[in-house]
Amino acid sequence: MGLREYKRKRNFNVTTEPKGSEKKRARSARLRFVIQEHHATRLHFDFRLEMEGVLRSWAVPKGPSMNPSDKRLAMMVEDHPMEYGSFQGTIPEGNYGAGEVRIWDKGTYEALGDASPEAQVRKGKLEFVMHGKKLKGEFHLFRMRSSKEENAWLLIKIRDKYSDDDWELEQILPYGSRSEKPEGLTSKRVWISNRAQTSKSSTKTTTKSSASKTGSARAKLLAKSAAKRKASAGSSVGRPKTSRTTATAKKSKTKPRAKTGSR
Ligand code: MN
Repeated sequence: MGLREYKRKRNFNVTTEPKGSEKKRARSARLRFVIQEHHATRLHFDFRLEMEGVLRSWAVPKGPSMNPSDKRLAMMVEDHPMEYGSFQGTIPEGNYGAGEVRIWDKGTYEALGDASPEAQVRKGKLEFVMHGKKLKGEFHLFRMRSSKEENAWLLIKIRDKYSDDDWELEQILPYGSRSEKPEGLTSKRVWISNRAQTSKSSTKTTTKSSASKTGSARAKLLAKSAAKRKASAGSSVGRPKTSRTTATAKKSKTKPRAKTGSR
């Protein structure tokens, strides 16, 4: 437990996530919690509970549930600094956890029983009551003994006056939203999507560079089609250069795709 792992994974010159320090704080009955909706490579919900000056953290792929029959996989991840509880924003591309982060719920919680939350976690089972806007009432988090993955836990809602059998999780951001692309990456991305799929919109701007990258086969093809056009057009000498570029672009848009299809 501690923030070493957290700090090791991040470059604080680039990300706006808090650098953080472990806070010494008198143990209070009510501790803070935050749940962040995190659109990283895969959408997940980061479930963080204050414990001994840091936020103990679990990544919950499907998000928490108020339905007692839902058992949510919760992968324990590195402790986060307390300041992370108010973080939301964009973790830049190329950095650990790149993507949008939004606070989904926050509030306080209290552990049930005599043992401290940290002691309960060490034993592999935490029983607690949440006082959030979305999450309320008793929850249990326990380590899955059957799993080979030692960080695999389950998060379940305990039936009480707050539990809801028809509950459905509401996201803050639409599914699949990612961080904004930094400049400079744009052309590379367009290039990749241009090749991999039948992207219609992105071709226009990249045709020139893609032609130069595809190597001799493509180049020959383009030269051939250009020659053909020249021959058939006859009087095309007077044509403005721009329209010719467009024609080439159209050609190169269809040709490689047809080739891919027949392979
Ligand atoms: Mn996360």
